[in-house]
Amino acid sequence: MSFFQVNDKCNGCLACVQNCPATALSYRDVGEKRKLLHNMPRCARCGNCWRVCPQDAVEFQHLLNDQWDEVATMDLLRCVVCGEPLYTMDFSDTLADKLDKNVENLCSLHRKTLPMDTWKRVTPKKTKPKEVEK
Ligand code: SF4
Ligand code: SF4
Repeated sequence: MSFFQVNDKCNGCLACVQNCPATALSYRDVGEKRKLLHNMPRCARCGNCWRVCPQDAVEFQHLLNDQWDEVATMDLLRCVVCGEPLYTMDFSDTLADKLDKNVENLCSLHRKTLPMDTWKRVTPKKTKPKEVEK
């Protein structure tokens, strides 16, 4: 998918193609048509095409606005004591599968109140504190 788009003011002058430092823009003449092409993996998102276009035709502003695009939405689990957001329900399921038992939904503060053996059971291996790994 390409995020580079041009509006109907584009007249095919190719200034963007000639000034793209990443050779991410090109064109192809097919029959009686000239196609303007963009290669997203090559694109450095530098915005130069947007700056040099004499027609103000490049619709690239959304990539320069430092905005966040939502790519996934998942159900969140919270600490059963205080309601602090913990992790996703899917992550909890993965953890439960690996540990072969359900994980208690507790934040780090309330997890500390549990006995150490419970702490070992509910904490993912990668986040185990060093003293616990001994
Ligand atoms: S943003 Fe930069 S690298 Fe991407 S197409 Fe435009 S000029 Fe080329
Ligand atoms: S520089 Fe602007 S007008 Fe020229 S081809 Fe590129 S987008 Fe179209």
